Amino acid sequence: MSEYADLPKRLIHNLDSYRGSDLEVKTPIDGSTLITLKVESSSEINLKVRGAQEAFRVWRDVPAPRRGELVRRFGDALRAAKEDLATLVTLECGKILEEGRGEVQEMIDICDYALGISRQLYGLTIASERPQHVMQENWLPLGPIGIISAFNFPVAVWAWNSALALVCGNSCIWKPSEKTPLTALACQSLFESVCSQMDGVPQGLSQVVIGTAAQGEQLVDDPRIPLISATGSTRMGRSIGPKIAGRFGRALLELGGNNAIIVTPSADLAVAIPSILFGSVGTAGQRCTSTRRVIVHSTLIDRVFRTLADAYRQIGESKIGNPMDPGTLVGPLIDEDAFANMQGALDRIRGEAVELIGGERVMSKSGGAYAKPALVRLSRQSNAIYSETFAPLTYLIPYETIEEALEIHNQVPQGLSSAIMTTDIREAEYFKRYSDCGIANVNIGTSGAEIGGAFGGEKETGGGRESGSDSWKAYMRRQTSTTYFGVERPALAQGIRFDL
Ligand code: NAD
Repeated sequence: MSEYADLPKRLIHNLDSYRGSDLEVKTPIDGSTLITLKVESSSEINLKVRGAQEAFRVWRDVPAPRRGELVRRFGDALRAAKEDLATLVTLECGKILEEGRGEVQEMIDICDYALGISRQLYGLTIASERPQHVMQENWLPLGPIGIISAFNFPVAVWAWNSALALVCGNSCIWKPSEKTPLTALACQSLFESVCSQMDGVPQGLSQVVIGTAAQGEQLVDDPRIPLISATGSTRMGRSIGPKIAGRFGRALLELGGNNAIIVTPSADLAVAIPSILFGSVGTAGQRCTSTRRVIVHSTLIDRVFRTLADAYRQIGESKIGNPMDPGTLVGPLIDEDAFANMQGALDRIRGEAVELIGGERVMSKSGGAYAKPALVRLSRQSNAIYSETFAPLTYLIPYETIEEALEIHNQVPQGLSSAIMTTDIREAEYFKRYSDCGIANVNIGTSGAEIGGAFGGEKETGGGRESGSDSWKAYMRRQTSTTYFGVERPALAQGIRFDL
């Protein structure tokens, strides 16, 4: 990857100050080492949290539209740096460059959205039961927001959180994945240069902590951080959730998925097949919203399997490879552990499979963990597929009635994204009502959400909501305030009399 050797240096102003011997950062493209960084010590993190507290005390008093102005300027800086940052995303996490660009576009979109929200941090005025009383609900800044992010969306998830947190008047402290710290440092450099050009922005408004789970845990345990927004595996959420609850902090958890598309007899396959394909093999199956299960009416399962198998063969022949190449559709898995996990999942299901194609290593792509996407046809749902495998691995399961399809659909412990392919409005509405996921799409796949909607899932996906709609409320505290403007002795609520 020598042709990209100068990219981190160009995007990260003080790159040399982060160098060390603790954390080897590799590109999944060929497994070569990009840089070795030092992990931050406990006392360094402690200082950063203190800095975030001090920045918060200044920033919360800056008018919200002015806070929005900073985020607007950051969005402009992202526009200018889009190609470079997208290339670094691809270099560090291995998604194809087109998707790297999409990820940076998502950051730009959320900056635009947050700018609008900065003028709409509305509370309510509520009718009081007492005369000459005014009851209001106010939304106030919360404090330093801890953001822990996963490798597969190394920059967009931070932007979803930070753009909203900042316009809401908070400071941020970000622990990126240990697999993708360079993209985080590049964002930090860009953000700092935008801050330096605007008056009234405090030092330490947004900071990065380089490290592994241990450094994430320090943030999780710190009572000075009122909200931890954490994106990653269910395993991580299960570990940090009780710790945050134990200190009465707030957790916004965005965890693993096990997403399904239901294909009904009335489905338009010209719409369904491309959606299944992108959901299953796009991003090498490494999206939280990737399609893991396709629940197909028994009359169609043969046809759907054959059509997908054909497409998988074409992809396997010429579309797997270097994610920087424009012709590539499937890049590498993040590392060898991910490849081993995929093989483990295939081994566990092999005995139950009616048919299984793909899954092999693509040998010609030495250095990286390149796998052929795998498609497994089952005769029924299996509890071997209840846990998430973060790889291009999709199961086809037959069903007879729409009720049975939903039962199969809802059986897994995760509840992130779901979809139905149908032209029958009754089936579509039935599905929307009974899908237990945070996202339920009709004639759109499970993968690829717009920033305008609230994003997140139920059950083991963690229950958090980020990005659009009223997700900004997660980054603020709600205060109910009642004012009496009369001159008589004020009435008590519930008509209580307390006369001397
Ligand atoms: P991961 O859980 O291994 O790591 C995620 C982050 O959590 C990293 O920064 C890691 O250092 C940190 N971490 C891990 N254990 C921790 C602990 N005990 N305390 C504090 N921090 C800890 O996940 P990953 O492999 O980077 O990402 C893939 C997973 O993320 C998949 O399960 C995927 O579905 C999920 N994901 C979910 C969403 C969503 O929005 N729901 C989005 C992207 C990824």
